[in-house]
Amino acid sequence: SKQQGGNQVTYYSPDMKGKVLLRFEIENHLRTALQKKELFLCYQPLVDLKTGRVTGNEALLRWNHPHLGLVAPLEFIPLAEEIGVIEEIGAWVIQSACLQTKDWQRKGFGSLGVSVNVSARQFREPGFLQVVIDALKQASLEPEYLTLELTESTMLQNIDHSILTMKELQKLGVKVSIDDFGTGYSSLSYLRSLPINSLKIDKSFISNLQTDSNGFSIVRAIISMGRGLEVEVVAEGVETQEQAELLREMSCQYAQGFFIQKPLQSSDYEKGASEGQLT
Ligand code: C2E
Ligand code: CA
Ligand code: CA
Ligand code: CA
Repeated sequence: SKQQGGNQVTYYSPDMKGKVLLRFEIENHLRTALQKKELFLCYQPLVDLKTGRVTGNEALLRWNHPHLGLVAPLEFIPLAEEIGVIEEIGAWVIQSACLQTKDWQRKGFGSLGVSVNVSARQFREPGFLQVVIDALKQASLEPEYLTLELTESTMLQNIDHSILTMKELQKLGVKVSIDDFGTGYSSLSYLRSLPINSLKIDKSFISNLQTDSNGFSIVRAIISMGRGLEVEVVAEGVETQEQAELLREMSCQYAQGFFIQKPLQSSDYEKGASEGQLT
């Protein structure tokens, strides 16, 4: 029962006990998931809205848990950060995405790029740049084909350090993108000082494109701001043809979403690409 005046009282219900056990189970397995080869990447194409061509793919992490089945990234990535395995997992993601992309380039799927999500803790670790350099070298991938996606909150956690690291990445030739743009709190002045190559309009704005009268204006404003800042603009979460058409009319360059293609495992991706379904 709740103690008077206490503000740290926790109620244990069977439900919570279940949750704690589940967390424990996930945490335990997460430490060995990489060695056991339970992690894999899916790839979701980014298309150029003008030409309809695939210009690259976003790598999205998946975990095939032995008992729980497929665990969503939002369920285990925060935990991986917390227990300190994100550096190792994140390095593996960058490495695998570079190797896969080089392989697809060699197979003639086009001069595809790859976008990789980077978590805050991974971005801040001292060895991060070296991880990127090693991955590119190991895959013999030209740096211009790699884009790293960072959220606004990751960039703003230690803005001076972030800017330095982003500039180092760009010196290597790697591109930097702001993910989930619009959901954070970057002011326009911040944005001007951030060395970025592209921004991704968060899918919440895309889903409000037609339903909310402000939704349209916000997306249009972000696109014209991107143009002003000379950065590429990607719309994520495009689920309908109408959204794709509206975005193209607004001169949004790139789009990604279920309407275009859902994230695919490598083998399915290759099948689609060789049948010409991805371009
Ligand atoms: P995100 O980077 O914003 O990725 C976009 C998410 O939207 C993905 O979810 C994708 O499957 C989903 N999506 C794609 N098209 C559509 C659409 O048309 N409609 C809707 N409603 N959703 C769409 P997913 O794969 O579950 O990933 C969730 C988040 O997990 C990602 O959000 C990213 O923040 C994180 N994540 C995924 N892979 C990695 C990784 O390798 N490293 C790190 N640090 N984070 C990752
Ligand atoms: Ca992303
Ligand atoms: Ca996003
Ligand atoms: Ca997101």
